[in-house]
Parts: sequence; C-alpha cells; structure tokens
Amino acid sequence: MKIIMLGAPGAGKGTQAKMIAEKYSVPHVSTGDIFRANIKNGTELGKQAKEYMDKGQLVPDELTVKILLDRVAQDDCKNGYVLDGFPRTIPQAEVLDEALTKLSESIDYAINVDVPDENIVGRMGGRRACVKCGATYHVKYNAPKVEGVCDACGDKLILRDDDAPETVQKRLDVYHEQTQPLIDYYEKKGVLKTVDGTVDMKDVFAAICEILG
Ligand code: ADP
Ligand code: ADP
Ligand code: ZN
Repeated sequence: MKIIMLGAPGAGKGTQAKMIAEKYSVPHVSTGDIFRANIKNGTELGKQAKEYMDKGQLVPDELTVKILLDRVAQDDCKNGYVLDGFPRTIPQAEVLDEALTKLSESIDYAINVDVPDENIVGRMGGRRACVKCGATYHVKYNAPKVEGVCDACGDKLILRDDDAPETVQKRLDVYHEQTQPLIDYYEKKGVLKTVDGTVDMKDVFAAICEILG
C-alpha cells in the first residue's frame, strides 16, 4: 500500500502517518525527518537544507527528490510506504509518478488532512518533536508521559526552530502557493481522500482507517 499524506504544516500528517505505519506495517517516510536527522548529524545536505527550512521555505526540488527516491528504493519500502511531507510541489509529484510508472506501480491513496489556518498556529507553538525517532507531541493535546522526553525512544524533545509563529505564517503561505495544488492533482488521478483534521487525533485516525480498510 502506497500512501501520501497531504495537508498544511501542523495539520497532523506526521501524527497520523506514524499510526498508519504501525497498523499497516509500512515504513513512515518523512522528508522533514530526513532533513532534521542530517542537520543534527552536521552533514552537507543538512547544512544546505537548514538554510531554507529556517526561513520557512521549501528545500529545492533537486535536493529533495533525490533523497526521497533513494529512500523508497530501499528494501523495507518494497511493500509500500506512507509518505509524509512529500510531494510538496507539482514537479515533485511528477517525478514520483514517473519513477512509479517505470516500476508499473502507482499511489493508492492521497489522504488530505484538512485543517484551516486559524487552527494551525496554536498547534505549532505546543508541538514538541523527537529528532531521533520522528515522534511528535503536543504540550496540551498529546503530552509525553515525562515532560521533554520521548515516550517512544527516551530521547530529548525539542521545539523546532521553524515552529516560531513568524515562520509558521510563512510556511502556511508557501503551503497555499506550492503544495495545495497537489489536492487537485491527486483528485484528478482519482486517489484523493479528504478527512477532517480538526477533531481529536483518534477520530482522525478512525476516519483514515475506514478509508484504508
Ligand atoms: P511540517 O510537517 O510541519 O510541515 P516537515 O517536517 O514536513 O514539517 O517539513 C519541515 C521543512 O522541511 C519544510 O518547511 C521544508 O523546508 C522542508 N521540507 C520537508 N519536506 C520537503 C519537500 N518535500 N520539499 C521541500 N522541502 C521540504
Ligand atoms: P504535521 O506533520 O502535519 O506538520 P504533526 O503531526 O506534527 O503535523 O502535528 C502538529 C502538532 O499538532 C503536534 O504538536 C501534534 O501533537 C498536534 N496534533 C496533531 N493532530 C492533532 C489533532 N487532531 N488535534 C490536536 N492536535 C493535534
Ligand atoms: Zn523518540
């Protein structure tokens, strides 16, 4: 099963993708997580990506596409995956489609987690992230058992640099301009499914499970 998560920054893509990955036994592939791991490890890719990320801009397609194609070519992606944060532009979606077509494969579901901008800013200020395993928490809506510590792996939780309110607004603008057109793109392909992302995360997940079966 090959699934794409669509939605604004902070809509809950990562939260839902983690749960889907666990239930359907497919890897959770997040380009944001890959970039953050590279930043943490001080790689050249990390240095390049950070310049864009800190400004709330997208990392250029050339850099991003290569990372993603390498990742999904790995063995654990043979039976599918859930992509979180990719594609984010029409050119990225086209490259992915071409690569899949060559393998006689295609995306099964593009799940659009729908949350209006007004709800996003409050969510981001309370988000806490684990760079080691990619888990995300919220101080109010999904607090870790021990403050500042990841339930899943025990690492320290961080407040992301790009979750500052000014940067969140910029990311929302970038989302509407460059990423939202993908909703139409996948609608035309007949794989788009939209769920209400404003309800409790358990209920969002229930709606997604109904779609995936
Ligand atoms: P969020 O889930 O809050 O939207 P992500 O972790 O997906 O955040 O992405 C964080 C940042 O990483 C983005 O703002 C962007 O700079 C960069 N990024 C992640 N995925 C992509 C992508 N597919 N194309 C370009 N930039 C990306
Ligand atoms: P994205 O990957 O789309 O950027 P996340 O999954 O990281 O979004 O969620 C953003 C923040 O909102 C996190 O702090 C997360 O715990 C919280 N969150 C996710 N889903 C919900 C929900 N349905 N209701 C309230 N808060 C949520
Ligand atoms: Zn963790």
